[in-house]
Amino acid sequence: MHAVIPFTGQVETEEQNTWIEAINTRSQLCRITPIDQLSENDKLAAEMAIVANPDPATLKQLQNLKWIQSLWAGVETIFASDIDSDIKVVRLTDPQLAESMAEAVLAWSLYLHRKMPQYRSQQNECRWNPLSLQLPEDCNISVFGLGKLGAKAVARLKLNGFTVRGWSRGEKAIDQVETFHGNSGLHQILPLTDIAVVLLPLTAQTENLFDATLLKQLPKGASVINFARGRIIVDSDLLAALDNDHIDHAVLDVFVQEPLPHDHAFWTHEKTTVLPHISAPTTIATAAAIAAGNIDRYITSGVIPDAADRSTGY
Ligand code: NAP
Repeated sequence: MHAVIPFTGQVETEEQNTWIEAINTRSQLCRITPIDQLSENDKLAAEMAIVANPDPATLKQLQNLKWIQSLWAGVETIFASDIDSDIKVVRLTDPQLAESMAEAVLAWSLYLHRKMPQYRSQQNECRWNPLSLQLPEDCNISVFGLGKLGAKAVARLKLNGFTVRGWSRGEKAIDQVETFHGNSGLHQILPLTDIAVVLLPLTAQTENLFDATLLKQLPKGASVINFARGRIIVDSDLLAALDNDHIDHAVLDVFVQEPLPHDHAFWTHEKTTVLPHISAPTTIATAAAIAAGNIDRYITSGVIPDAADRSTGY
């Protein structure tokens, strides 16, 4: 006898079905079912649900919900909704996602370090112009956010020989990496940064964090990579800093509005690289195995996996 577990999310039916099949084939104990196919009794019996960007109104149909397993890594939209604050929110923490993100951070750090945007524009003008090569140890990369993703990114950048620093909310020790924390640490790390890699969650504290005042504290000629959330950087302030040549280049994978609207200046700015939220796509096989394992453990032992913290927002 399998436990019936609701699935709810604002995703295409095809994507929903792919997730449901992937989790059901990896779980010994549950049968994930779209919420609109559940009986009223099934909805009342549901203590947990699988969600992918859920509509809060739909979630409220589950009156005895204790926890939800999100298939997304960020939980800011769930925390911003009016769902019952007693419901624990478990975000997707997948080592494969962290590996993909670390690879993306290395790839686009190398893209900036080896001046690929400049060579692309020189080629557009048929211009043969070798630029000086900086050694990786002379390139200072600061990773903002040292969580599941940031920590792996730091390790991958170190392997390539970059001088890596990191910033987090609480104090952190990472072997051979200078770390900073809190507001005072932010002001210390910014002037030491050639490439700023943003891997922070979107919270009340990080929203609009990278504004004109903060961007000014980066050295002239620094670059920014945002792989976290669009609202952490103030678009207009970043555009102004690119236009006045304070910031050299911005690699942006996440935006306030996604897809990025056609008329947004980021699309055509010569100093931006726009990516369609691809730095660390979810791998369905590994993510489904993690979700299935969490559900089966809950069914057999009643243990709810570590949940995100409402008070900090991540
Ligand atoms: P995480 O494990 O929760 O780590 C968050 C890190 O940010 C921690 O080091 C935390 O500090 C730090 N932090 C949080 N608030 C801070 C503040 N106010 N000041 C300084 N540091 C602060 O998160 P994660 O799994 O690494 O993921 C980070 C974000 O990446 C997600 O929230 C999501 O938005 C984004 N993401 C993007 C993609 C993509 O494809 N572009 C994919 C997955 C995730 P402490 O260590 O002190 O707690």
